[in-house]
Amino acid sequence: MTRKKVLVTGGAGFVGSHLCDRLLKEDNEVFCLDNFFTGQKKNIVHLLDNPFFELIRHDVTAPFFIEADEIYNLACPASPIHYQYNAIKTMKTSVMGAINMLGLAKRIKAKILQASTSEVYGDPLVHPQSESYWGHVNPIGERSCYDEGKRSAETLFVNYHKQNQVKIKIIRIFNTYGPRMHPNDGRVVSNFIVQALQNNDITIYGEGQQTRSFQYVDDLVEGMVGMMASPDSFTGPVNIGNPNEFTILELAEKIIQLTGSKSSIINQPLPPDDPMMRQPDISLAKKELSWHPKIELEEGLEKTIAYFRKVI
Ligand code: NAD
Ligand code: UDP
Repeated sequence: MTRKKVLVTGGAGFVGSHLCDRLLKEDNEVFCLDNFFTGQKKNIVHLLDNPFFELIRHDVTAPFFIEADEIYNLACPASPIHYQYNAIKTMKTSVMGAINMLGLAKRIKAKILQASTSEVYGDPLVHPQSESYWGHVNPIGERSCYDEGKRSAETLFVNYHKQNQVKIKIIRIFNTYGPRMHPNDGRVVSNFIVQALQNNDITIYGEGQQTRSFQYVDDLVEGMVGMMASPDSFTGPVNIGNPNEFTILELAEKIIQLTGSKSSIINQPLPPDDPMMRQPDISLAKKELSWHPKIELEEGLEKTIAYFRKVI
């Protein structure tokens, strides 16, 4: 049997490690590349004995050469506290990482998928967000290193496709949660679960009336693999997310209920440019990929809470 060779950048991170698991289950050979900025060896340690798994410490801002059939480009910190820690580095990771991985894809004729984000829509003026919406992003704001980095990466992908016929795939991922998020990741689901399990105050930024639509990680991985397998003519961008929308206050109350926590809810200042609402329109993914999310919030939270009970 010929195994496909698949490169996953950011493979030791939260989403990347689940993707590596899935690709190995399907008998691929997986090269997991990571600089361990936010990734953890713990996420992939169970794969190290697998002869078809290779771990490579590398930073995508530097060129990298390997023979592969497919590339999933996930390398980039995703949590606001981590991507704002070194904003210039975040932008370099998105832009130079895209150039290096697209250059590699061009040279070795690999198909390449970009993990883009709902953040390309910024603080949206259109609701729900469909792929045709151009977004509402502050180019000099706190989030711009991430948002504009990802928007630039999309531009690079589209132009490598037009100019060099590179086979590209772009997915716009909406808020995703699940086991293997770092306990100090700083994103809302992991923060609230860790706070609830430790009976600490639950920190709602602002009044908690802002909304997000939360997707369980297994649904995202299914969408990623489905997108990679779709016909070459379908490049995206395509939204991959769960349209069920909740306020942040509702999320906090649900997590308190599911953990049986004694935590109280406290309010802290809302960070600048924090989007007020976010919900994916997934008609395109349904039509082109026959994909839709299957795991609803309560079920996904229960699995995630069980994971955090073990690690903290
Ligand atoms: P994560 O921070 O857990 O994973 C990112 C991984 O990339 C980490 O392992 C990190 O060490 C690695 N990395 C960062 N900079 C690198 C560099 N310069 N070179 C090599 N490796 C580098 O985040 P995640 O939630 O797993 O996100 C994975 C991808 O999906 C990211 O590109 C993110 O922008 C995108 N995404 C995620 C979400 C979400 O809700 N999880 C939403 C939208 C988009
Ligand atoms: N948030 C919050 N408390 C926290 C962490 C986040 O109220 O401890 C809010 C945050 O202000 C935002 C929402 O939850 O409105 C989602 O934040 P996250 O960082 O998870 O994702 P993003 O803002 O990038 O969608």
